[in-house]
Amino acid sequence: MIHEILPVGPLQCNCSIVGDETSHEAMVIDPGDDIEAVMEIVKRHRLQVKQIVVTHAHIDHVGGAAKLKQLTGAPILLNQNDYELLRMLDTQAAWLGMRSPGKLAIDGSVGGGDTVKAGAHEAKVLYTPGHTEGSICLYFEPEKRVIAGDTLFAGGIGRTDLTGGSYEKIMRSLHESVLALPDETVVVPGHGPLTTIGEER
Ligand SMILES: [Zn+2]
Repeated sequence: MIHEILPVGPLQCNCSIVGDETSHEAMVIDPGDDIEAVMEIVKRHRLQVKQIVVTHAHIDHVGGAAKLKQLTGAPILLNQNDYELLRMLDTQAAWLGMRSPGKLAIDGSVGGGDTVKAGAHEAKVLYTPGHTEGSICLYFEPEKRVIAGDTLFAGGIGRTDLTGGSYEKIMRSLHESVLALPDETVVVPGHGPLTTIGEER
């Protein structure tokens, strides 16, 4: 599996480019910004982006999604419980002193039990509300890897004091879904360095 991690934008959100080295099909997760740099990686591996998956509707994770869709034609997937937060992109941009990326059309919702894929590499969607109401994680079981969005970081968890956040819910998501994964699972957090489930548990 090709897996490139590129920190993008002023908040350095970890954008993942996951590709199948045989079919060259790919998915991009959390294209928050710096879409030119994302496309350079896509082209370097001669990938075709088939899906754009957003772990939650914070601007640093979703800000570049419309531009990436325009360039690749790939649909944008986001859990429906974050659609309301997505409608607040202008407000989110104002908080951060950023330019709003404008209107963004989501092509479909993904939630617990769904799968997303890059060719032969499939990820189970874990529904993990808490940081936001519609937060998800993507678990590549055979590859022993989880893309955790802002639910789990190396040495910390996502903040729950923003709109739609809930400490009770994030703790439940961590205990019942994320930390229930095997110890050796590599965690790719929404920001900062990689870690493992064993280390964070
Ligand atoms: Zn966030």
